[in-house]
Amino acid sequence: TWGQVREELIKRVGKNNYVTWIEPLKLSGLKNGVARFEVPTIFFGDWVQRNYADHIRTQLANAGAAVERVEFSVGQAAAESRPAAPKPAAAKPARTRAVADEELPGAPLDPRFTFDSFVVGKPNELAHAAARRVAEGGPVTFNPLFLYGGVGLGKTHLMHAIAHELQSRRPDLRVLYLSAEQFMYRFVQALRERQVMDFKELFRSVDVLMVDDVQFIAGKDSTQEEFFHTFNALVDQNKQIVISADRAPGEIKDLEERIKSRLQCGLVVDLHPTDYELRLGILQQKVDFYRSQYRGLVIAGGVLEFLAHRITTNVRVLEGALTRLFAFASLVGREITLDLTQDCLADILRSSDRKLSIEEIQRKVAEHYNIRLSDMIGPKRLRTIARPRQVAMYLAKQLTPRSLPEIGRRFGGRDHTTIMHGVRKIEELMTTDSQLADDLQLLRRLLQG
Ligand code: ADP
Ligand code: MG
Repeated sequence: TWGQVREELIKRVGKNNYVTWIEPLKLSGLKNGVARFEVPTIFFGDWVQRNYADHIRTQLANAGAAVERVEFSVGQAAAESRPAAPKPAAAKPARTRAVADEELPGAPLDPRFTFDSFVVGKPNELAHAAARRVAEGGPVTFNPLFLYGGVGLGKTHLMHAIAHELQSRRPDLRVLYLSAEQFMYRFVQALRERQVMDFKELFRSVDVLMVDDVQFIAGKDSTQEEFFHTFNALVDQNKQIVISADRAPGEIKDLEERIKSRLQCGLVVDLHPTDYELRLGILQQKVDFYRSQYRGLVIAGGVLEFLAHRITTNVRVLEGALTRLFAFASLVGREITLDLTQDCLADILRSSDRKLSIEEIQRKVAEHYNIRLSDMIGPKRLRTIARPRQVAMYLAKQLTPRSLPEIGRRFGGRDHTTIMHGVRKIEELMTTDSQLADDLQLLRRLLQG
């Protein structure tokens, strides 16, 4: 059943976190309801305890293990070779709320996400400049500011940076930052408790409204409606709005046209995928930060360049890799060399290395739905086979740069219209079939790492 637990954990915490923090755990004992795991360093143990202990306990319990508590201790082998590992300042500074006023239902701001810690490069310079402008708190020049880009490229970081900056420059302003999901949650709660008027009043009383990941409200009709009214009311009062999404306004499916066009009225800027220089810059900055925590840490020349070359997926993965490298280095008390880096990050390097192939997608999807790989490509029209096949077509279109005819060829020489039909079908179904939506999410995680 560990396979089951593993799958669930990946679903909960994401593949990267799983690989960085959970995979290295060694189960050393299971007695009296306590599961004990060995960890490489104290730092590592603290981190896992704080972030993942609950997930691990829940999933073990779900799988039928009588576990009430999980404990982490530094492994015997590790403890012996550990020369008084420096303990980093573990506690993060207290979180500030994104509110100029207690009644505003803002999300907590990450104190690390400031302009100071944001590294500027070609791919993000426009977004950064626009964010800076908004953060000055001067007269509204473009409204809204719409930031978009792929996962882990710094959208949330920039929004928090704006909120931090505004709070210190203009403490008089009521700044509200929240995710679109929270916006919806608040709204639904207001509906339920018959406090829609209060909700409206509250959201219309802010000076700056920032809504993160707005794609989330696509397809959620009454929330969209309310968002639209809030948006208009604030724009009419000349209040600043900042929005982020994972894609351009016009590309968000199931978002009402009038909202799309509203979102396009201001300044729309995208964060491009990182380039080598930017990645190197980000790594250097993190290293400076870690150096101030782990004294005596030495990094051999070429290590950062190597990482910037090899880990190109997203900044979060890059940071995760570095965090793990430091945790290991602090354990062995050794200089971080290229060899150590390659050993310690082998799995991350492998997964960010490979280009996803259509065959791999077919294999994973077949495995997930428990059908034969040969049926993926074969002619059977049974629904239990045709549907997984369409899922694989959909993922192939989404996750690889292959064209429809190319995909058709890998699916036993099917026509490109058949592939298009399959892709459309899944797109259509995923909005109503939550099981399918979950399957897709899980498969995506498994495939992309
Ligand atoms: P997004 O919201 O676009 O998915 P985040 O803002 O959450 O991405 O960024 C992911 C991680 O990468 C965060 O820890 C963030 O601090 C870091 N990051 C992204 N871009 C930069 C950058 N230009 N400089 C420093 N850190 C960055
Ligand atoms: Mg984000």
